[in-house]
Amino acid sequence: MSNYKIAVVPGDGIGNEIVPEGLKVIRAAAKKHNFSIETEEFGWGAGYYLKHNQFLPDNGLEVLKKFDAIYFGSVGLPEVDDTLPAKDYTFKVRTNFNQYVNYRPVRTYPGVTRPLRTEKHIDFVIVRENTEGEFVQMGGQYLPDEPNGMGTDTSVFTRKGIERIAHYAFKLARTRDKKVTHITKSNTLINSLSYWDRIISEVAQQYPDVEHEQMYIDNSTAMFVLKPEIFDVVLTTNLFGDILSDLGGAIMGSLGLGGSGNINPEKEFPSMFEPIHGSAPDIAGKNIANPYGQIWSAAIMLEHLGEVDAAKSIMGAIDKATSQGVLTVDLGGNASATDVADAVVANL
Ligand code: ATP
Repeated sequence: MSNYKIAVVPGDGIGNEIVPEGLKVIRAAAKKHNFSIETEEFGWGAGYYLKHNQFLPDNGLEVLKKFDAIYFGSVGLPEVDDTLPAKDYTFKVRTNFNQYVNYRPVRTYPGVTRPLRTEKHIDFVIVRENTEGEFVQMGGQYLPDEPNGMGTDTSVFTRKGIERIAHYAFKLARTRDKKVTHITKSNTLINSLSYWDRIISEVAQQYPDVEHEQMYIDNSTAMFVLKPEIFDVVLTTNLFGDILSDLGGAIMGSLGLGGSGNINPEKEFPSMFEPIHGSAPDIAGKNIANPYGQIWSAAIMLEHLGEVDAAKSIMGAIDKATSQGVLTVDLGGNASATDVADAVVANL
């Protein structure tokens, strides 16, 4: 029987409410599919920062390295500088563990009212480059308090970084509907993103069986709303993927529905699985947060670990729960986070 060691980092805000609910589902799936999990919880994040002046201890990454995967909620609190959670936790884990794929699927949930009029089934994956691009945080501020002050951020696009994410996207498309739409803005970012386009087109030639389309970011935001059914695999830069995946969450019906994985495909390091939303301090402490995205992240984690049937079972149990009308406040229902997880477990 396989055994998986999972590091659990609930983080802040609603993370502390929905991560335990997700764990219930993981445990139920393990029982049903005959594998075991060992979990260890770490109270890191913005709350930890307020006490210890850092988001995770000095040896935090060394500690995490020993696990097969990290099940994560979200970090950030209103009283903590908003530039810190990404820099001191999320980006740190993503870059140090070479989690260069941010896998963010978008789909329709049965029984959930969507904001779009289309009745067509939506099912695509945003593959966001996760370690470079616009989010490398290289830059600086010069005399910020002066009239001639300035601030810069430099984007970095490397051949290696683009090639590996493009290969991931095209390989993924082969397991799906065989289409990659790569998002760009090379008509104005004429150096970095024309390089991005060029390398992706080179990689695309190695996958003649996969349709390859290039789309500008501005057009793609319109297409997400007008014709979301045309997408299969959406390959984006770090910044564009960040924005598009919130739009992806919105067209599903709520940000709370989106699951994701920060994936190191080579499995040299643990990968980290988290919902696409933040710590939502405005609704924390009431057990009303939508845990479907957190539970979906568990399914993505189990699939990554090789428990494909368990992942499928969880998705089936989620679909059954939403069809049964087990919906949280953001979806127009009155189910608590606990009600949702209990329904998913019962359906499993
Ligand atoms: P981040 O930058 O860390 O992604 P954010 O500042 O974009 O975070 P979120 O924490 O994602 O903000 O919250 C945005 C809005 O969506 C808030 O009004 C929040 O209450 C709502 N929201 C986010 N997640 C959920 C959820 N799981 N269930 C219900 N509402 C949610």
